[in-house]
Amino acid sequence: MPSTTWADAQGLCTFVDASPSPFHVCATVSMLLTGNGFTELHETDSWPGEPGRYFLVRGGSLIAWSTEGVGRTAPFRIVGGHTDSPNLRVKQHPDLSSAGWQLVGLEPYGGAWLNSWLDRDLGISGRLSVRAGNTVEEKLVRVDEPILRVPQLAIHLSEDRKGVHLDPQRHLNGVWGVGADRRSFIDFVAERAEVPADAVLGWELMTHDLAPSALVGTEQDLVSAPRLDNQGTCYAGTQALLSAVERPGDQVPVLALFDHEEVGSMSDRGAFSDLLSTVLERIVLGRGGGREEFLQTMAGSICASGDMAHATHPNYPDRHEPAHHIAVNGGPVLKVNQNLRYATDAAGAGAFALACDQAGVPLQRYVHRADLPCGSTIGPITASRTGLSTVDVGAAQLGMHSSRELMGARDVRAYSDALAAFLTPTA
Ligand code: ZN
Repeated sequence: MPSTTWADAQGLCTFVDASPSPFHVCATVSMLLTGNGFTELHETDSWPGEPGRYFLVRGGSLIAWSTEGVGRTAPFRIVGGHTDSPNLRVKQHPDLSSAGWQLVGLEPYGGAWLNSWLDRDLGISGRLSVRAGNTVEEKLVRVDEPILRVPQLAIHLSEDRKGVHLDPQRHLNGVWGVGADRRSFIDFVAERAEVPADAVLGWELMTHDLAPSALVGTEQDLVSAPRLDNQGTCYAGTQALLSAVERPGDQVPVLALFDHEEVGSMSDRGAFSDLLSTVLERIVLGRGGGREEFLQTMAGSICASGDMAHATHPNYPDRHEPAHHIAVNGGPVLKVNQNLRYATDAAGAGAFALACDQAGVPLQRYVHRADLPCGSTIGPITASRTGLSTVDVGAAQLGMHSSRELMGARDVRAYSDALAAFLTPTA
């Protein structure tokens, strides 16, 4: 494999391992951006009028853009994605015991493949709300030690040895020790976060598999990692933005990464929120433009909604549309659905196909089997919330929503190259 491609796949592994929660995804992307000349803005401040590289974080969502070298009414070229992944999250009263075991009460977030969370060494990450006098501060926390495990039932105890149905209420609690006198789990997390236990007022805590991401296969041409859906896009999109700002065109490149896609996007920071449209309008207003100029700008703008795509599974080829074979390491994927589970229309398809051609990477075209329900993305939501022309794209993977997923190592670079070309179309 070419060394630059290997470096990109290895870079994705490093990115994913650094980012066990949506909040950590934002922290990782923020670090990459600030290291490349981006300045963090806050929504409560007035924004600078001069062109530059900027980003802001709202909870587990992040928007980044560059106005360097472009006019005040330059249209936006947006790459979207989501920071969250299905997992098991900590309940509000997590301390449980059963049969002499100490348990942490967990429940699924999003459409997690529950079986994939069994018998794995799990760490904890997320954020705490911590009392500081008469205010509340946010504190990121992560514990990369095997403190939790959701144990599977022995095959001898299952009714027919064909596997068991997993009840999300009863079968997903994590063990973290035995005996009667263990302290509270939140007290433990507070200690690791180096805050007083009685100062913890709220939390969003989630589990993550501690096995490090890896390049696998004899040719190391596959990436085995958690959260590829959709950190594969968060990483490729960030790389694309960093590439795009080095060769500015006549449009404003934007990276928009949203939390809460896996649970429907309806939150203060999800794709259903005002986050993207507010930021885009403030970019125009901050540079002295008005509402009219903002609306003109939006009319010429376009969004590529990046989310992972289904590669054809070698053991289940019948689950796929037979005329739309999708290969790992076969290049980025254009996703089309006649019932608009994906937002792609002919115009969006044209823009992304052109970007792939300009980037010199092949393009694959995906449609879901007509007799199976198709998943969705932030694409249709973004399109309907903003009126932006939107195209759904992705990179191919297996095992979507498993705690451990698989994609092509060569697709990492091809995907980011295509997104970079999309962000900076050549005239
Ligand atoms: Zn996704």
